[in-house]
Amino acid sequence: MKFDVIIIGGGLSGLTASIALAEAGKEVALVSAGQNSLHFGSGSFDLLGFDEQGKAVSEPIAAIAQLSEKHPYKKVQDVEKLAQQAKQLLEKAKIATFGDTTSNHWRITPVGALMPTWLSVEGMVTVQEPNQMPWRKVALINIQNYLDLPTKFLAAGLRERGVEVDVKAFTLPELQALRQSPTEMRSTNIAKVIEQHNLIASVADEVNRLTSNDYDMVLLPAVLGIKSNAQADQLLQLIKTPANYVATLPPSVSGVRIATLLRKRFTELGGTFFTGDQVVEGVWEGETLKGVKTAKLDGTVLEANHFILATGSFMSRGLAADYTHVYEPALGVDVDDLGLDRTNWAKIEVTDPQPYMEMGVKTDANLHCERAGKTIANLYAVGSILSGHNTIKRLDAAGVDMLTALQVVHNIVK
Ligand SMILES: Cc1cc2nc3c(=O)[nH]c(=O)nc-3n(C[C@H](O)[C@H](O)[C@H](O)COP(=O)(O)OP(=O)(O)OC[C@H]3O[C@@H](n4cnc5c(N)ncnc54)[C@H](O)[C@@H]3O)c2cc1C
Repeated sequence: MKFDVIIIGGGLSGLTASIALAEAGKEVALVSAGQNSLHFGSGSFDLLGFDEQGKAVSEPIAAIAQLSEKHPYKKVQDVEKLAQQAKQLLEKAKIATFGDTTSNHWRITPVGALMPTWLSVEGMVTVQEPNQMPWRKVALINIQNYLDLPTKFLAAGLRERGVEVDVKAFTLPELQALRQSPTEMRSTNIAKVIEQHNLIASVADEVNRLTSNDYDMVLLPAVLGIKSNAQADQLLQLIKTPANYVATLPPSVSGVRIATLLRKRFTELGGTFFTGDQVVEGVWEGETLKGVKTAKLDGTVLEANHFILATGSFMSRGLAADYTHVYEPALGVDVDDLGLDRTNWAKIEVTDPQPYMEMGVKTDANLHCERAGKTIANLYAVGSILSGHNTIKRLDAAGVDMLTALQVVHNIVK
């Protein structure tokens, strides 16, 4: 089987590259092993939340210009233009977002902290300024026995900022059935039950029963709409007070929906998806990657003119480590381990910048990978597998994923 481009890894970066290449008329295959990091996300896309001094960023484009040369954004030719393309790509996949590159807005985390972000999916609660909360009084409405919305922390975070918060909860007989096992009272199961039993009107009745005009805002856990935003939108319309969703602890229904809609868009564009399979080795001819072998295709070589490595960081096994070194397990490309020995990979204080977070595969200015010190002209890397940045300290994950993917698509199509 031969394709124009094979993408390895189906997280946000791999899906972005796959869709953009399919839109450009390329014959594309995507091989992805398992769940991706979107399943943990907040429903917001971060571009650059904190600069290298740790200061919150309000104007991301200006702050990106100040980043050090090793940051992956320095390999993106026009950050602003590609950020607009990224937003359009999401829109075409039916992922409606608000926000732009002129100024960050702030998302509210499940534990009540505020984080600067770039785009948020419609319906999610955000504020423009962290020190000017737009509400006097908020009703925080949970589902009884749903533990992945830590309402005490969330309410405390809002109260610290001067907002009066009432915490309430409701249930429905169909949701009670989920209580048989604590592990089943999870966001994705709640979403399925509400959808299968068509419970939107009943949920709206419960929320309306618990709230009144006295509240400026009703906050609900983002546990609706795995396949589309339709039911989540409908619920907000049926609630008599202004209402929004707040991110929950994982699994994230918003993240699962984003992943589902991106995959759908890719297959609708004619892309080939090898799902649940894993690239286990490359077939090399000198410094050219001719093909890849996967765990399930029994020796069949998937060939392509170009390859994109989008296998994520340690959590997704795009990077791996043993007692002595950090390595890239699928194709054996070179990794920048910052020249550190094992004792210095991590800092004891968990909130300190962790050196291992900056490790990743080495790339040249055009995002080509290296193998044994030699540039591989037909193999690129994108997303969180790239070295040179700390996504937790910079809050730049989705931006790096999508913009490096779009830059590589540009490099290939050009
Ligand atoms: C808890 C949590 C919350 C987050 N919240 C946010 C947020 O609110 N906003 C934000 O912008 N970012 C957030 N992020 C970060 C963001 O989700 C990730 O940076 C980003 O999704 C990484 O995308 P990726 O495509 O590089 O890799 P991943 O999403 O990790 O995907 C890599 C994929 O490659 C597959 N794979 C690995 N090896 C192989 C192989 N050999 N063959 C085939 N497939 C393979 C994996 O199974 C996986 O599906 C969060 C991350 C976490 C962990």
